[in-house]
Amino acid sequence: MGRTFAGKDEVYSFDLKQQSAFNLSTQPPFINIQQFYIEGYLVERIYELGNVELRWKNCVTAFRQDGEGALLTVATPAGEHQLRADYVLDAAGSHSPFRQWVGASVTAKKGDDRWCIADVRFRKHPPVERHTWIEAPFNDNRAVCGST
Ligand SMILES: Cc1cc2nc3c(=O)[nH]c(=O)nc-3n(C[C@H](O)[C@H](O)[C@H](O)COP(=O)(O)OP(=O)(O)OC[C@H]3O[C@@H](n4cnc5c(N)ncnc54)[C@H](O)[C@@H]3O)c2cc1C
Repeated sequence: MGRTFAGKDEVYSFDLKQQSAFNLSTQPPFINIQQFYIEGYLVERIYELGNVELRWKNCVTAFRQDGEGALLTVATPAGEHQLRADYVLDAAGSHSPFRQWVGASVTAKKGDDRWCIADVRFRKHPPVERHTWIEAPFNDNRAVCGST
């Protein structure tokens, strides 16, 4: 279950188990798995398949396109080199320099909120639910989100 509150009022709730997309899963909803575990499993699988070359500590520092494709400048611990590519797939995250390099516009907004992310251990386990307060009276009416 997920419940959303404004002060003491519950303004929205949903039950993922009732939604058809989740009926197929044997796992209960709201399992939190740290991102680095998932990334670790993906890296293990990539090594297992053996058809992708992972180059750690390589950073693309420049990019340009010409009639023959793309030319990337790559900085590595051993020095800098250039790489020719027919296609380039950018997966460099929210601060990716590629958008600027290709002149793509960005419509994202940056918020001023600061979030505290904490793990809490309960002696007596509450029901497995996610609670979101859009206005939490116990936090100066600012947002709070928690999953058990
Ligand atoms: C504190 C925090 C909590 C979050 N919690 C959640 C959550 O609970 N659930 C959720 O769904 N999402 C959450 N997110 C968002 C989620 O982490 C991101 O949406 C996700 O990581 C984006 O994945 P990505 O692969 O696009 O980019 P990233 O994970 O940022 O990966 C980009 C990679 O590219 C590399 N890179 C960058 N520039 C270059 C370059 N020039 N050359 C080579 N490599 C480069 C970086 O080193 C990095 O490894 C959270 C984010 C933060 C910061």
